[in-house]
Amino acid sequence: MRLPDFGAKVMGLAADALFPRLCPGCGNRCDRPGRYLCWSCFSGIELFTDSLCDCCGRLATGEVGHRFVCSACRHIKPSFDRARSAGHFTGLLQHLLHQFKYSSALWLRNDLTDLLEGCLRAHFDAEQIDAVLPVPLHRLRKRQRTYNQSDLLSAELAKRLNRRNDLRSLSRTRTTGTQTRLNAIQRRENMKGAFKVTDPPMVAGRTLLLVDDVMTTGATLDACATALKKAGAARVWCITVARGI
Ligand SMILES: [Zn+2]
Ligand SMILES: [Zn+2]
Repeated sequence: MRLPDFGAKVMGLAADALFPRLCPGCGNRCDRPGRYLCWSCFSGIELFTDSLCDCCGRLATGEVGHRFVCSACRHIKPSFDRARSAGHFTGLLQHLLHQFKYSSALWLRNDLTDLLEGCLRAHFDAEQIDAVLPVPLHRLRKRQRTYNQSDLLSAELAKRLNRRNDLRSLSRTRTTGTQTRLNAIQRRENMKGAFKVTDPPMVAGRTLLLVDDVMTTGATLDACATALKKAGAARVWCITVARGI
């Protein structure tokens, strides 16, 4: 063991003894190095497995033994090429994402990125990705909230993939308000033209991975993908930590 590694390990053990990392799921000491969720709670998160729409990742009702595209995607094809989410937006995962987004629980970044990375490796060819982009917040909203949770996730994921984390090429042109009471069609209308590409040469001809915390109808990701495709992006893939239906 090299001395700096040894030093870092000793420091890590000392920090753990002084400030034990307690699992936000069960309250026990965390047994995963450098993380907060314990193995038991982490493996208890309900993940999406199979029978998903090939395009948007929506769960099929009933057993599907072949590749399929859901009726929503057949009706209006999204601008993104594929979207996938790691887990269901319920229970512990919903609680963690809420803490991460609204209560500055930024220490959850690695745990949440573990879920993103697992999902990415299961559904996409990471080698083909040229850049990782977060879904941007409007600058006024970002000033209010002080940080964008998607920036933090995309930065961590890009670092693990050894890819460029592109915070500049895509921007939000207006605030869009809360969408919780809108249905899928209203959300699509609400998001229309809400994003623009500020630096087209950085996206043209590239395979891009868009990152967000939660996907619901996919209207936000679709509006981002529309702007990116218009600027010449070759492929837009989307990944979120959770999906709520
Ligand atoms: Zn736990
Ligand atoms: Zn679909």
